[in-house]
Amino acid sequence: MPTDALAPLRHFVVEMTRCVGEVSNEPDLLAQGKALLSQLIAHDHWLPEEFAKAKPDTYAQYLLHCDPMESFSVVSFVWGPGHCTPVHDHTVWGLVGILRGAERCEEFAWQSDQQRAVERHCQHLMHPGDIDVVSPTVGDWHRVSNALDSGVSVSIHVYGANIGKVNRWVYHEDGTQKAFVSGYSNAPLATVAPADIPQRSEEHTSELQSHHDL
Ligand code: FE
Repeated sequence: MPTDALAPLRHFVVEMTRCVGEVSNEPDLLAQGKALLSQLIAHDHWLPEEFAKAKPDTYAQYLLHCDPMESFSVVSFVWGPGHCTPVHDHTVWGLVGILRGAERCEEFAWQSDQQRAVERHCQHLMHPGDIDVVSPTVGDWHRVSNALDSGVSVSIHVYGANIGKVNRWVYHEDGTQKAFVSGYSNAPLATVAPADIPQRSEEHTSELQSHHDL
């Protein structure tokens, strides 16, 4: 890979750092972040192969960048055939942009205040260039899966925190919940991520654990 191959990601990180530092209003931040992510995923030559590798058992989530203040993180998600998340929340704003392949996104909410069961209220397919927004204010629960039967799909996610360390919930269809911390599938990309982000080994397995416990 040429030494300047990461230039699009570096540009995104610089602009997103400015954005997160200057824009406090979430709708404006999401609009500006969406425009920046749209530029980033317009081409996919910049993503190193090791961050686009599918895992055999479940989807991979590779940390590409997190700033020292943990105000935002950039993660590549890689989906092999049949890979699917549980229904989960994020608790912070997030942008999901499709880089390669296709993903199915199903959105969930409580059935009603009285009936504490989760219900799918819509679903849609996403293709390269498409971007979804999640946050507690615009809708935060979804289940994501690879829409390709035999190919690998890759999406680039941006979150308003070091998402691998955030305490979150998986929601079962009977209304029960399970706490989880996703962790990451990798150590940070050394050229763009600070060395001082703690990578606790137990976090690397917690997502798998919560997924397998469903
Ligand atoms: Fe998600």
